[in-house]
Amino acid sequence: MKKTVNLLIKPASALCNLRCKYCFYANISSIREVRSYGKMKQALVDEMIPNIYADLNDGDELSIAFQGGEPTLAGLSYFEHFIDVINQQTKQVTVHYAIQTNGTIISKLWVPLLRDNHFLVGLSIDGGPLYHNLNRVDTHQRGTFWRVLQTKELFDEAGIDYNVLCVLTNELAKHPQKVYKFFQEQNVPFVQFIPCLDDLDATSKSDFALTPERFASFYQQLFPLWLNELKGGHYRSIKLFDDVLNLFLHGQVNACGLTGQCQIQYVIEADGSVYPCDFYALDEYRLGYIQESTLRELFSQPIAFDWLKNKQPLPTYCDTCPFKKMCCGGCKRMKDAMYVAPSNRFCGYRTVLETVLPRAEEIMQVMAICRERERQLFSVLGLRPPLAALDTAYYCDIDLMQWVKERYGIAFAKYLAKHTTPTQILVQLAQREHLMLLKTSPFGSDTWSVRVSLANLATAQYATVGQRIIALFDQDYASWHHQGGGPDGDHKIR
Ligand code: SF4
Ligand code: SF4
Ligand code: SF4
Repeated sequence: MKKTVNLLIKPASALCNLRCKYCFYANISSIREVRSYGKMKQALVDEMIPNIYADLNDGDELSIAFQGGEPTLAGLSYFEHFIDVINQQTKQVTVHYAIQTNGTIISKLWVPLLRDNHFLVGLSIDGGPLYHNLNRVDTHQRGTFWRVLQTKELFDEAGIDYNVLCVLTNELAKHPQKVYKFFQEQNVPFVQFIPCLDDLDATSKSDFALTPERFASFYQQLFPLWLNELKGGHYRSIKLFDDVLNLFLHGQVNACGLTGQCQIQYVIEADGSVYPCDFYALDEYRLGYIQESTLRELFSQPIAFDWLKNKQPLPTYCDTCPFKKMCCGGCKRMKDAMYVAPSNRFCGYRTVLETVLPRAEEIMQVMAICRERERQLFSVLGLRPPLAALDTAYYCDIDLMQWVKERYGIAFAKYLAKHTTPTQILVQLAQREHLMLLKTSPFGSDTWSVRVSLANLATAQYATVGQRIIALFDQDYASWHHQGGGPDGDHKIR
């Protein structure tokens, strides 16, 4: 049976160029023997990847998320080498890459790596300059908002897939309307709010750390804003809403801790040491070293066994909860931030479920129709459906240049890039094929990414949309060919 393995790799350990005031990994690394293992060496990558592949088979999937600290500090050459070694493996494994970054180091030089390898980037922006600059500061205590926004704009222009990670501090949670408005204005389609936690060794509650009450009131106020947009035909992914709806309706578990069961996350530090969870990358939880053991061997360690079976008793408040079977008390590290309050009379997550789930069927019916439309369009174009994490349901984005390269070959793609613009293509689609598409980036940048709304036509018409796009490009390709343009190598139109 096909399996999916998820890894979280820290190529620059706890090293970071920022000094965010709430940084959880700075706290974790400060309470272990070695604070930072420095940058991962290429020789370690060479030893590690065969061990990762040892338990994989043809057809399996491997998801690799790079995190830190700040992973881009490892340098472009680290990632290029890593991907080279992955590509040398002979097993037919589909690899998905993701990276979480503070966005202050990434420049244009990173675009080919991120785009060509279909990285999903988690970009940290704390909901507007005021909240962001309050906590996300550099070594001189200067706010970093504008630097990160430049990176966001670079991603928009270059067609890099990203979602925004926003740390939900107690302060930020007071302002759901302002935060949501910011993400609307910035046209951010995917947002994940990350509860801000107290230090693992904290003796009292910090000002940053979220409380279950604030967690609940934030999402209770966010939900109607999100639902209104959805009903107006625009879907914005808010990860928690997606997660609870998918769990409730389809039994899909898309976040660790959602069902109260710890998992083995395979967190790989820069020295090769492996831990079960990012929140507990501590000496006492080290499973072993990836350069010395396969994943199966690490999974079989007594520490892993203890990790999986160690369950904390639930607060008595859970006994009266209608969602107890679905939640089982949630993630143990998040309990003080979003679950049962110390009073034992309130649970933030329960309140959110009571708000969202009564509307679940209605929301998912609308989305299911749109997904079928997307499936029909992508199937005609011969495209892979988008990553689940990027599936908006209400519209889809197509990188026309990438599609042209894959369907017609590099030579024709180069010819098009030189002799026409995306805007001219869209005008021709409208004039010759009576098809109106929009550029993904609304502010004049000439990227080749176009957006197809899935809310406007009948389902059967989406195959026709694909056929019209093909018709236009087939004609242009034939005319280029007629004028002497030739395919590169033995490339053939699919
Ligand atoms: S960017 Fe991330 S790793 Fe760096 S200080 Fe901020 S929270 Fe910590
Ligand atoms: S502590 Fe939370 S995030 Fe970590 S493995 Fe357990 S459930 Fe998952
Ligand atoms: S009260 Fe909260 S933590 Fe307990 S089972 Fe219900 S939702 Fe989960």
